[in-house]
Parts: sequence; C-alpha cells; structure tokens
Amino acid sequence: MIKNNLHKVSIEILHKLSQTTEVTRITYEGPAIAIYTKSPEVFIENPVLISELATKFKKRLLLRSEPDVRLDINNAIDILYEILEAKGFSRSEIHIFFDSIRGEVHIFLPKYLPGDILRKVTIDIVKRTKWIPKFRAYYYEIPHVYKMIYSALVMKGGERVSQRILSNIGERIFRSPINPSQDIRIVGLGGVQEVGRSAILVETSESKILLDFGVKVGSQRRSEYMPRIDALDLILNDLDAVILSHAHLDHSGLIPLLYKFGYRGPVYMTEPTLPLTVLLLKDFIDIAEKSGFTPLYNDNDIREMIKHTIILRYNQVTDISPDIKLTFSNAGHILGSALTHLHIVEGIYNILYTGDFKFGRTRLLEPAYHEFSRVESLIIESTYGARNDILPPRREVERFFAVEVKKVLDRKGKILIPTPAVGRAQEMLAVIHSLINSKDEEYRIPVVPVYIDGMIDDANKIHIMYLEYLSNAIRGLFRESGENPFKTDYIVSVDRPSRRDEVINERGPAIILSTSGMLQGGPVIEYLKHLAGDPNNSLMFVSYQAEGTLGRRIVDGERSIDIIDNGRIVTIHIDMNVKKFDGFTGHSDRRQLLGFVSRLKHLLKNVYIVHGEPTKMKSLSTTIASFFKLPAEPLNLLETIYLK
Ligand code: ZN
Repeated sequence: MIKNNLHKVSIEILHKLSQTTEVTRITYEGPAIAIYTKSPEVFIENPVLISELATKFKKRLLLRSEPDVRLDINNAIDILYEILEAKGFSRSEIHIFFDSIRGEVHIFLPKYLPGDILRKVTIDIVKRTKWIPKFRAYYYEIPHVYKMIYSALVMKGGERVSQRILSNIGERIFRSPINPSQDIRIVGLGGVQEVGRSAILVETSESKILLDFGVKVGSQRRSEYMPRIDALDLILNDLDAVILSHAHLDHSGLIPLLYKFGYRGPVYMTEPTLPLTVLLLKDFIDIAEKSGFTPLYNDNDIREMIKHTIILRYNQVTDISPDIKLTFSNAGHILGSALTHLHIVEGIYNILYTGDFKFGRTRLLEPAYHEFSRVESLIIESTYGARNDILPPRREVERFFAVEVKKVLDRKGKILIPTPAVGRAQEMLAVIHSLINSKDEEYRIPVVPVYIDGMIDDANKIHIMYLEYLSNAIRGLFRESGENPFKTDYIVSVDRPSRRDEVINERGPAIILSTSGMLQGGPVIEYLKHLAGDPNNSLMFVSYQAEGTLGRRIVDGERSIDIIDNGRIVTIHIDMNVKKFDGFTGHSDRRQLLGFVSRLKHLLKNVYIVHGEPTKMKSLSTTIASFFKLPAEPLNLLETIYLK
C-alpha cells in the first residue's frame, strides 16, 4: 500500500517531466518526497519544474542528485574555493560542510551574496560538482558545534545506508492508516506539577508522538531526573516522532537517550534549535564527566539524534504520521523556540502545545504567534501562572536596571550578572546595547568593557547566524548600520582561564556576564569569589533562581556561603551589593498567559496546564475556568486524558 502510493505519485511525476531531466528514482525523504536525478542543474536552472509539481501534488518535493554523479568531496572543495574566491572571498573565510545524506553542501560565508550573483554561483556549483549548495552568512565566526553536527552527516557507512534512514521515516509517515477509531489521548510524563523534565505523549489510534524529552537538572532524587517513559508500555520503535519545542535542557536534555535505547525515528525542530541544542547537550555531558559522574549518553548518541533530525520552518505544515500534521510557529521564548500545533485525523482535532513561550515583546524576539484558525485543546505552560506573578512592564524594568547599573559604574565598581548561556545572556546584551545608545540621558549608561564568559560567546555566534528569527528591531539595526548587539567594540570574550584572572584584577568599572545562571558551578563562581568582598561591586540576578540553588539562597538573604575551591570548602562573605530584577524573563507572566488564552478562547474546548509549580498550575487553571468558562485542569504525572 505504501509503495503503491509513492508509485502512483512517481509515475505521474515522471510523466510530467521530460527525458532531459534524467530523473532516476523518486523516494521518501522523511516527510517530503525526493526526486533523484543525474542532471540537477536542469531543475536549478528551471525552478518552476519543482514548484509546479509541488503545487499539483500538495507535497514537499526535494531535488537530489544521484550519489554516483556527485564529485568526490576533495575535488568538490577545490572547485568551490575556485568559484567563491573569484567572488572576492578568501579561502580562510569560506567554510564548507557536506551533508552526504541529502547530497547538499552547506557553505558558510561572512556575508550573503546578492541575489543575482547567488543564482549564478549556485548554477555553476551544481553544474560542476552535482552537489546542491545551501548558503548561510555567519558575519563573525562559526562556533565549533557545527563541526560535530556535520561530522554526523557525512557517514562512513555509505550514502545509500544513510539515505535509508530518511526513506524509512517517510514510509512510516505515509503508511496507510489501519485503525479507524478516533480516540486521542495525552499523558504527562514529566514537566507536570514541576518545572523540568518536560515530556508529553500524544497518542491516537494510529500514532504516538512525544512532545519534548527533557531533564530535571537540579533534581536531588534520581527518580525525578527523567520523564516517566518507564511507566508506559511503550516500545520506543512504536514512536512515530519526537518534537522538540526549543533547545533548553529541561526540554531537550534526554533526547539522545532515546537513541541510545534504540529509537530510530525522526526528531523535528527548527533550524537554530539544532546548533543550540547540540551546544547545550555537549556541555551537559562535559559537566557530568567533570563532576565525576558517568554521563547518561555520549557523543555517538548525540550524533544519532543529529542524523535523525528533520528541520522545519515556522508555519510549514508537515505530515509526521498517517493522521497527524505538525506546524511550528514563533514562541517568543528563545531563538528558534516554537509553539507546536498538531492537526489530527483530517482536522477532527487540533492540539496546541505552547512549550515555553512569551506572549509579549522582548528585545530579542517578537511575541508568540496567536492567529490559529483551529485549536480545540491547549496545553499551556504556567511558570509564572500564580495570582501575584504579574511582572512590571519591560520599559520600567529596563529603567530600574539602568539606574542601578549607573550607580555601580559611577563608583567604579564591577557588576556580575549570572546568566544562562542561551537566551537571557543575549537579551541582556541587547538591553545593555540599547541603554548605552539611549537618547535619554537619565537612563544612558557609560561604555565600559562587557566581559562574557562560559558558552555565551558560542551562543552569540549562533544568534547572529539566524538573524531572520530575531526581532524586527535587531534586524533593522543590523540592516541599517551593520551593528549587532552581540558583537560590539565593548564586548570582550573571556576565552581562557588566564584572561579571567586579568578581568578580576583589572581596575575600573566593568560588566561581567557569566554562566551558570543560578550560581550552580561554572566560571561565575570564580568571579563571585573575587568580587564578593567589595561593597562597591554588585551582583545582579536577571533570571529565575530555583529553590535549593546557591543563587536562590543569596537572593533570600544568605550572606555567608560555602563554596568548593580546589577541592577544599571555603567560606566567602558577600559584602557586594545584591540586586534582583524580575521582568527580563522569556516566559509569559500571568497577564500574558491569560491574554493568550483570551485570544484563542472562541476556538477552545479544553485547557490543560503544565510546566509550573503545583500552586501555580492550580491557580492558573482555576482562573481560566472561572474567567473564560472553559474546562481547564492541571495535568498530573502519568494521568491519561482522553480528548473529546
Ligand atoms: Zn525554556
């Protein structure tokens, strides 16, 4: 039956195309259909050939060259250098990575080529190498993480073996439905009545989908560290898909473990989510090793995840199983974060899972998308869902922050800002950039060195590469003046421990952003040790401090703290000023959560609350139920909900 479907489409496609296109076969490639040819240049020169077929068959069609006509990688590199050097790039500026699973060559350049030149270069490359190029501008520097990503995509087992991964995924997606029942159920496996280890199973009579599979990093108890997939009668190979909403470890952290245990299906995510996730996963296993633990999985499992990753754009509707279509849209939380919309059984049912989302503007991102036409069930986070979780307006928070920063810098003190590497760090750099350039003298802060330590620099580089995902304001600034807030004259990356000592011993005011965000280890501890004793300095918290962390204890007033220094416990006294700023969060506050529900309320039949402390989940569900007269309930761990 599967073969027959594809067979029918293949015959029609072949019928439409002339002999000169040299099409050799048509196969599934994940959710799309790939057309293999010996002459890809014919299609590149006539883009309408593919677009007309795609419209006719309502399928995503991908152009692929036959592996045996592709020039071998070493010769292809020489030709690529020759073509690009002729366009004015030096060899050291050109970074070339091959994806032999898809027959694509990904070329990273310091800037984009103008459209007409890009087209000529593309045709030239395809004609001479038969590899299909994709271009991305890096503007600044390519983070190391791309080496790992592409090392997974150039496979030793031969191209045919690696392509089988994608065609197997496709055959599963387009298999004929066998079960006509319309039962749909959801089960919370983690991230319910808590923040951490997010995982939700969505099941129809036909398919099984996992939404996120995160870790609870700070959990004291081993049993609370992982989502409760163990409690299900689920064979991993029965899973149709894993969908990753965004890169943060509490949503992504244990996906490689699924591959370690034998899962070989796809994981769907947006383009920037892949490098950000790999960056965080690598750091996660490095930290485990350094602290003397055996990591739960290794690089090979991360590579297996990369091989099975399928990238989707926002608002692109994609078949992911015989009865489910997936659409991502902007969630406004971090770079690449997505709201997950599932359209089930020809649209008889539609689920929207928010993941972490911000229904409000930040410096970094546009607010979460809300213009859905069908959503019967909403699964919504509730990090700031309690009655008193109303954050002050952003403008006010920034002004308050500016006043405090000015005070410290005026007295020549240093400001230490503990921050997670992905998301908040870039948001704070964007805030600092705007305050330095403020027209209002009262809130303008002086230009001082801004040191960034930990993985912030790598995360910055990734942000610059995906400008199209960032806020209109940041894109506008970049287009008009070439400026970007993550790479300026005053930002200095602390790239080695000796540089860290220099920063600490340097006289004069400075701002230091360093990981980890809750003072749970990382370079920030080094700075804290040296800066804590001087009341002219200031420790500024700009992100959520979880219960039990050192950050939370300091926020709650503890001033004498024990830390481990070279294997010895030393006590340090916090004489530096301590300030906490609410309102820089990438989550929706109570008002924004209710605002989002209010936009969708005419569509909704049910609301399910996840991702929050129990009291916050309860408070949000009670309010939604009474305010909007909608059935709303907090999900409980392992409770099965049948959607009606
Ligand atoms: Zn998050």
